[in-house]
Amino acid sequence: MTTEVTTTEAIRVSLEIGEGPCDPTAAAAHVHDFISHMRAEEPRILGFPGNLAFDFSDLAGILGVLLNNVGDADSPDASDINTKAYEREVLRFLARISGGEPEDTYGYVTGSGTEGNLFGLHLGRRRLPDAPIYCSEAAHYGIQKIADLLRMELVQVPCGSDRGIDADALRAECRRRRGRGAVLVATVGTTMHGAIDDVASCAEAAAVAGATHIHVDAASGGIAATFAPFRLRWGFDAGADSVAISGHKLIGSPVPCGIAMARRELVAAWPAGEYTGATDSTLSCSRSGLAALLLWYGLCRRGRRGLEAEIRRALEVAAHAERRLAELARHPWRHPASLTVVFDRPSAAVCAKWHLPTEGGLAHLIAVPHVTTEAVDDLCRDLEEDTDNATRRRRSHARNARSLA
Ligand SMILES: *Cc1c(COP(=O)(O)O)cnc(C)c1O
Repeated sequence: MTTEVTTTEAIRVSLEIGEGPCDPTAAAAHVHDFISHMRAEEPRILGFPGNLAFDFSDLAGILGVLLNNVGDADSPDASDINTKAYEREVLRFLARISGGEPEDTYGYVTGSGTEGNLFGLHLGRRRLPDAPIYCSEAAHYGIQKIADLLRMELVQVPCGSDRGIDADALRAECRRRRGRGAVLVATVGTTMHGAIDDVASCAEAAAVAGATHIHVDAASGGIAATFAPFRLRWGFDAGADSVAISGHKLIGSPVPCGIAMARRELVAAWPAGEYTGATDSTLSCSRSGLAALLLWYGLCRRGRRGLEAEIRRALEVAAHAERRLAELARHPWRHPASLTVVFDRPSAAVCAKWHLPTEGGLAHLIAVPHVTTEAVDDLCRDLEEDTDNATRRRRSHARNARSLA
C-alpha cells in the first residue's frame, strides 16, 4: 500500500509542469522510458483490438508539421494545410472494403469509431425523427450515450444462439412500435464476443416498423469479416446506410481514429463558416490530418492483397487459439469470421499478465496481427498452471472441509 502511494507520488512529482521550464533532456528521457515500457508489454497484449504491429517511425518528420483537415474530405479549405488527398484515397479503399462504391459513398476520418457511430445515428435521426434506436444487448456501450445525446429511445434486443441479434425478437419489438420507423444498429464484431449481426436479415426484420435507417457498427470486426474465407456481406452491399470503423484497431495507428461513411445521397450539407472556405458535413471542425495520413500509409504499404494475407494469417492464429483453449477445457467460442476468442475467465494474475479484459465469467483474446502463435502457446502454458493451481486449491479446500467435518 505504502509503496503504491510513493510510486504514484514520485510519478506525479516527476511529471509536474512547474512555473519554469523543465530540463528538456530529462523530459525526453522520461518519455523514452515510457516508450520502452510500452514496447516491452506489447507481446503480451492479447486482449485488445488494437493491432500493434505498425511502425511509422520513418515518418517522424511529420511530427513537426500541423495537419488539419477542416471540413469535408472532398472539399478544399482556406488553410490548405491538410492531408485530404490521402484521406480521400483511404475512404475510396475502405468504401470498397465495406461493400460500397466510392462515388456513392460520403466519408471522413473521425477521432474514433464512436464518432462514426454518432455520425451514422445522427443521420438516422434526421431521416426518421420519431424512430427509436434498436440494437442488440451486446452492442457497444457507446450506443447508449449516443441515444442519450440524440434524445432517442433505445431498444435493446436479446441475442440468439450465435450471439448476434435475435431477428425474431427484433421483429417483435419493431412491430410493437410500428409506424415510427427504425434506426437499427447492427454490430459487426461485438466488443466481447466478436459476434456478427446478420445485417440483411436484421434490416428485413426492422422493416415492419416502417422506414428504416441501417447503421453498421463495424468498429472492431468489419475489415476482418471482409476477408473471411467465405463471403460475408455486412456493409453497403447488405443494405447499410451508414458504417463506422475504428482506424486504430485492425489497421493499426499510434493515435485513436476511425472512419465514418454513409450513402452520399443521405448526407446533407451543414452550414459552414465562410472563413474555413470548406463545405462541412462532418461532426467536427478541425480534424486530424495526421490520422488520415497514417491510415493511408498503413494501407498503401499493404495493398488490398497484403491486407487480405495479413488477416488470413490472423484468422489462423485465432483458430489455433480456439483449438488450444478447447484442449484445455476453457470452452472457447469464436465467430468464424472474427479474430476474437472468448473463453472461461482465468485467474486475475493471468488476466493481468496477458492484458485480458473480462466480463462476468468470460475473458477474451483478439488475434490482431501482433499476436503470434507462440504468444498464444505461452498463454496456454500459463492457463495450464492456472488450472493446476485451481484444481489444487479445490482439492485442498475439500481436504480442509473433510478435516473440519
Ligand atoms: C471499439 C468499439 C467501438 C468504439 O470504437 P472506438 O474507436 O473505441 O471509439 C464501438 N463499437 C464496437 C463494436 C467496438 O468494438
